[in-house]
Amino acid sequence: MGQNKNYKFWFCTGSQDLYGDECLRKVAEHSAKIVEGLNKKGILPFEIVLKPTLISQASIRQTFNDANNDEECAGVITWMHTFSPAKMWIIGHQEYRKPFCHLHTQFNEEIPYDTMDMDFMNENQSAHGDREYGHIVTRMGIERKIIVGHWDSEDVAKALASWMRTAIGVVESSHIRVCRFGDNMNNVAVTEGDKVEAQIKFGWEIDHYNVNDLVEYVDAVSNSDVDALVEEYYSKYDIALEGRDADEFRRHVSVQAREEIGMEKFLKDGNYQAFVTHFGMLGGLKQLPGLAVQRLMEKGYGFGGEGDWKTAAMDRLIKIMTAGMKDAKGSSFMEDYTYNLVPGKEGIIQAHMLEVSPAIAEGKPVIKVQPLSMGNREDPARIVFQSKEGSGIACSLVDLGHRFRLIINAVECKKVEKPLPKLPVGINFWTPKPNLKVGAEAWILAGGAHHTAFTYDLTVEQMVDWAAAMGVEAVVIDENTNIRDFKNELRWNEMAFRLGL
Ligand code: MN
Repeated sequence: MGQNKNYKFWFCTGSQDLYGDECLRKVAEHSAKIVEGLNKKGILPFEIVLKPTLISQASIRQTFNDANNDEECAGVITWMHTFSPAKMWIIGHQEYRKPFCHLHTQFNEEIPYDTMDMDFMNENQSAHGDREYGHIVTRMGIERKIIVGHWDSEDVAKALASWMRTAIGVVESSHIRVCRFGDNMNNVAVTEGDKVEAQIKFGWEIDHYNVNDLVEYVDAVSNSDVDALVEEYYSKYDIALEGRDADEFRRHVSVQAREEIGMEKFLKDGNYQAFVTHFGMLGGLKQLPGLAVQRLMEKGYGFGGEGDWKTAAMDRLIKIMTAGMKDAKGSSFMEDYTYNLVPGKEGIIQAHMLEVSPAIAEGKPVIKVQPLSMGNREDPARIVFQSKEGSGIACSLVDLGHRFRLIINAVECKKVEKPLPKLPVGINFWTPKPNLKVGAEAWILAGGAHHTAFTYDLTVEQMVDWAAAMGVEAVVIDENTNIRDFKNELRWNEMAFRLGL
């Protein structure tokens, strides 16, 4: 369940015909070396493809339109090797619709002190040409990523690699389709939102089904398929009977296996990559899907509880952006549940009723069957674990009525101080940055939800850049946050977005 296509990024070098063929030959040669060098580093998640040097308005316009129409092109990287009069770029940029990165680099890393003459200066003047080009992009108000540094440095390759994942999030966002089993939970504010505006801004298609449409799929699953999946569960996870009868336990687990198979078939048939449930709207389902949802999240489906389609789509977006990442630590739907307020040990237990992805588990998860203490169904089976340690980000997309705001909190995930033998859910425990007091105050001021889409594998910068590319507000809570500045930022953003700046 990764990205849809074998994406590539186009490398477009700008110049002009003022310098003569010899200079343009070198420009092309240098561009080829840069592209080859970057591709060979083993850092970029996607290939860069070199395009012919752009020296005229017509060729720029043609290349950008080709990029628009090439299904595998996920973005364009531009670089002005020499001076390239920027008025030539206006029409191309007006028509270009995909992500774009301005790589502000130079072929030579060091000034050739002994040999540099005016010819060399004229041929190698990115410092000059990239400023002319940057001016027009700013004047046109076009969102872009600017990466500065020598192309052969690890820093620049890593910055490009990071941006590429953001770009994939931008081009793939419009392929996200969310299936809502039932509606949002009544009276809850933060999980609501404008689905039409979400489709305009993010391209998300958000559909609704009666949960009994799903029940038909679940009931149609064959017993042999259920038995095979239960066997897989029993081999992959530990089993904690905790005094329950082994046969009765297995029967409860098999209900979840049936739900997992039925839900996955429903989602595949409808081409959905994200979904929501609601514990109060279960129709003919015997158990709240717990283990079933956990497994589907692990397979790459986005999820939100209580009808929270915004978080489900964000969870799926994160899974798209991190697909194929080496040594990824995982992502999950999450909920702020309970604090530890002991000085020096502050943190938040993150969990949900059941639905936390085992992708973030540390060690081998355990299956338990326990009462839900909410709703009116039989005791659901669920996967129980504690999460990995390390840095991550929690993302909450909220609808403020006239716009969306993405709130991004950098968090530090830790081991809980002591075991929680009576808590039968998968959990994470984190301390928000810069600390619990400031982090929680800022989160509440920003209107952040109790549901989040959490990932260990993306950075604040990647999500901020994604939001900017989608044209929505993003606010960050991290080690640099202080409340006075943060309140001002919210106030100024309010004005900027109301004015459409
Ligand atoms: Mn919830």
